[in-house]
Amino acid sequence: MTGETHPVRLRPRRPCPLCGKPSQQKYHPFCSARCADVDLNRWLGGHYAVPAEEEPDPGDEPPPEKEP
Ligand SMILES: [Zn+2]
Repeated sequence: MTGETHPVRLRPRRPCPLCGKPSQQKYHPFCSARCADVDLNRWLGGHYAVPAEEEPDPGDEPPPEKEP
């Protein structure tokens, strides 16, 4: 043991996950209210935006060409 300990940074600054800018403590972990809002909208939007069900083929498609 060397007796020396590396100082532990209690608050490591992580870059904004959206734009990579230094995050602000006020909007942690984002850099600004905009990025925080974007992330929030992403969560809310993805919650009910895309339906998980796939529509089955009706099997009643009209023929592409009409017979004379
Ligand atoms: Zn940002």
